[in-house]
Amino acid sequence: MSTALWAQRRGLRVVICDPNPAGSGTTFGPACTIATYACVPINSPSVITSLPSLLFSKDSPLILNYWHAIKNSRWMLSFLANCRSSRVDAIGSGLGALLGHANAGLDPLIADIEAEDLMVNEDCLYVWSTQKGFEGAAQGNDLRRRQGVAMQEVGPAEVRALEPALQMPIYRGLRFQGTRFVLHPQKLVERMQRQFVKNGGATITAAVQSVDPGSTGVTVKLGDGSTLTAGHFVVAAGAHSKSIKGAGVEVLPLGVERGYNVTYANHRAKLTRPVGWAEAGFYATPMELGLRIAGTVELDNLNAPPNPDRLAYLRRRATQMFGYLDGPSDEWLGYRPTMPDALPVIGPSHVSGRIIHAFGHQHIGLTLGGITGQIVSDMVRGQQPQLDVSALSGSRFRSA
Ligand SMILES: Cc1cc2nc3c(=O)[nH]c(=O)nc-3n(C[C@H](O)[C@H](O)[C@H](O)COP(=O)(O)OP(=O)(O)OC[C@H]3O[C@@H](n4cnc5c(N)ncnc54)[C@H](O)[C@@H]3O)c2cc1C
Repeated sequence: MSTALWAQRRGLRVVICDPNPAGSGTTFGPACTIATYACVPINSPSVITSLPSLLFSKDSPLILNYWHAIKNSRWMLSFLANCRSSRVDAIGSGLGALLGHANAGLDPLIADIEAEDLMVNEDCLYVWSTQKGFEGAAQGNDLRRRQGVAMQEVGPAEVRALEPALQMPIYRGLRFQGTRFVLHPQKLVERMQRQFVKNGGATITAAVQSVDPGSTGVTVKLGDGSTLTAGHFVVAAGAHSKSIKGAGVEVLPLGVERGYNVTYANHRAKLTRPVGWAEAGFYATPMELGLRIAGTVELDNLNAPPNPDRLAYLRRRATQMFGYLDGPSDEWLGYRPTMPDALPVIGPSHVSGRIIHAFGHQHIGLTLGGITGQIVSDMVRGQQPQLDVSALSGSRFRSA
């Protein structure tokens, strides 16, 4: 949706093809942070050392389905290769460069759709319960510092003064200065959709099955049996992007990190900002819908059913964080589109310059949607994007 709006801002005519309502995919259930500080990938040396517990523990924020890992051994091996310290630094620089422009991509859209009321300017907070956990995060926090992330270390008393509702042990906190969050991401996308229609955009409620690029345009075959032709085609179907045949995604290692949320509409926990509990692997965010506990990573098949153990984990940890909570009003599973090097794929397909890839935004797609749209619409116009994103092209995997 962000790409569609940016393309309209650049004077292009846009048709969106999607079988589902706007904002009903993974963008429905995030932790709602505009995480401009999130340049540290989940790839880290500690993933390699803690592999046994990832395979067998029900109490880890990151779990791995053994059979899925075997079936997708190439993705897994590539993911693990990207957990080396030198790679983590390089990935952090790539993400940091993109995140540095995230607000510039988002703010014009927020202004266009008059969504300032859905944004809350309140510093996001990370909290560690243990010294071991905090010290284990030193490399990542150092990477943030080197990427120029504005942050302030805070002690337990200050964390409790900021957020008195927190009941878990607190060793240290990090306050990400100048950050913000979204009160209701679905409303945000719905307003984008309304603006898109107002700008003359058309929506076709059908899945794209395949695309066939030619010298003058791209023929798009839809699930309802119809076809249409466009000058350019943008693949922005998140974790499902591989289902579009002929777009050059089939040969790319697009994987999925499944993540969950539980939302408590009726709760007494007064929270003023998203608080990421580092050891537990999730955020608690005060949303318009209530208190949302969102996060964790499950490396498993896109089509596997929701894992009740993961939802139980979130509910259990939520009560450790806030004390008693009434039962959740909603539970949800979402699919982060993730490349094994944690960088998105943004750029022309090797199949044709008329097909542009825009997927793989893993944990930070809400944050990076705007800047991705700006870059993609520049590419479609044949203009040089303000940011050099050649390293984000899918060709990085073809030459590997
Ligand atoms: C638990 C959790 C917490 C998160 N928290 C945050 C956060 O705090 N901050 C942040 O920035 N990010 C967060 N994220 C990540 C973010 O939600 C994702 O990166 C982002 O939603 C991905 O957006 P997308 O548009 O690529 O995919 P989606 O939102 O999944 O949209 C894909 C769209 O493509 C459509 N589609 C599928 N197949 C086809 C087809 N064949 N043809 C046409 N259309 C198709 C789908 O119907 C859908 O509408 C979180 C993710 C999870 C799971």
